[in-house]
Amino acid sequence: MGISEAYKDLKNEIPKDVKLICVSKTRQINEIKEAYAAGARDFGENKAQELMEKHDSLEQDIKWHFIGHLQRNKVKYIVGKVHLIHSLDSIRLLQEIEKQYGAKDEIASVLIQVNIGKEDAKTGIAASEIDSLIQACEKCNNIKVKGLMATIPIGNVEDCRMYFNEMKRMFDNLKTFKYKNVSMEFLSLGMSGDFEIALQAGSNMIRLGEKIFGRRDYKKLEG
Ligand SMILES: *Cc1c(COP(=O)(O)O)cnc(C)c1O
Repeated sequence: MGISEAYKDLKNEIPKDVKLICVSKTRQINEIKEAYAAGARDFGENKAQELMEKHDSLEQDIKWHFIGHLQRNKVKYIVGKVHLIHSLDSIRLLQEIEKQYGAKDEIASVLIQVNIGKEDAKTGIAASEIDSLIQACEKCNNIKVKGLMATIPIGNVEDCRMYFNEMKRMFDNLKTFKYKNVSMEFLSLGMSGDFEIALQAGSNMIRLGEKIFGRRDYKKLEG
């Protein structure tokens, strides 16, 4: 199946109030253009350099989502180029975003990334640290928290459902509080292998790469 057809099929399949992000990491410009021509406007990248290059060479009405681990020394490069950062995962990163966005008088929209499976190899804050991160966000001038994001451990359907449900409970709970600079609008959960389960659990933002563009070939990109 081609990119255009895959994108259109997905748009028909998923509820209207769910935001579909086309994860374009490692993809060539012509592949992204094909998705764009089919109507896609939200694209996700996980490397600052790659995002900057694609941002500069593609249509300016594209909304770029930063979905990977964001290194503090890269924040300055993405100011003004990113619609939503999905991966706020520490107070130190928060402070750097506040500083760099402040310097350019821009507002950063961010999601807090939660390491819901408590995986050593994964970034994201522990659920128990969310409160202190939110308290730090309340003191900022150039940051708006728009929700939560997670990637879950590889596992069976029941485990996936459990982690997604846990995220949804956390999201709904945070929604009941009034914090400065925080509005729980987006719950970014679900990738190509598990987005149906994520949608059932209440995700309203899914991040799909292979489902739209086919298998990723990291070797081809390096060669
Ligand atoms: C690569 C990536 C995706 C997309 O993964 P697919 O399996 O290709 O759908 C989603 N979220 C994050 C954080 C990613 O790094």
